[in-house]
Amino acid sequence: MAIGTFQPSVEVKNQGSMLGLFSTDDILSGQVIFKLEGEIIAQPTRTSLQIGMNEHIEDQRIAFTNHNCNPTAFVYDGYLITKRNIKAGDEITIDYNLTEEIVTHPFICNCCGRIITGKNSTLYRNLLLWIYLHSSLLISSAKKGSQLR
Ligand SMILES: [Zn+2]
Repeated sequence: MAIGTFQPSVEVKNQGSMLGLFSTDDILSGQVIFKLEGEIIAQPTRTSLQIGMNEHIEDQRIAFTNHNCNPTAFVYDGYLITKRNIKAGDEITIDYNLTEEIVTHPFICNCCGRIITGKNSTLYRNLLLWIYLHSSLLISSAKKGSQLR
């Protein structure tokens, strides 16, 4: 780090029942929070962040960065950057639908109630819907089948 450059500090802490990443400094909009660091792997995990085609980084801080549809930060060119002015104590969040092609563990968003599946959300959502619909059909046909025996 060069002398004179501002490097905000962050901490992982509990918020309700969930861990999250929080700023311990006031940071202006458009500032680098940190450079992503960690192992780059080909397959996404629950804690990784997609940085390219078949490139996912396991950053220890990003692992705790929660999703928000109106996030306080975004990822650009290997850096986590503030999207707006944030205060010390604010949670640092990103939009998983912007970073991930496919979210490995889709979930219902706390803020909007939508299912968060990644960029390929339409395709993926349709696939999940198809599996859901067909699994109930399969279950009902399995029940019919068992009644015949
Ligand atoms: Zn949402």
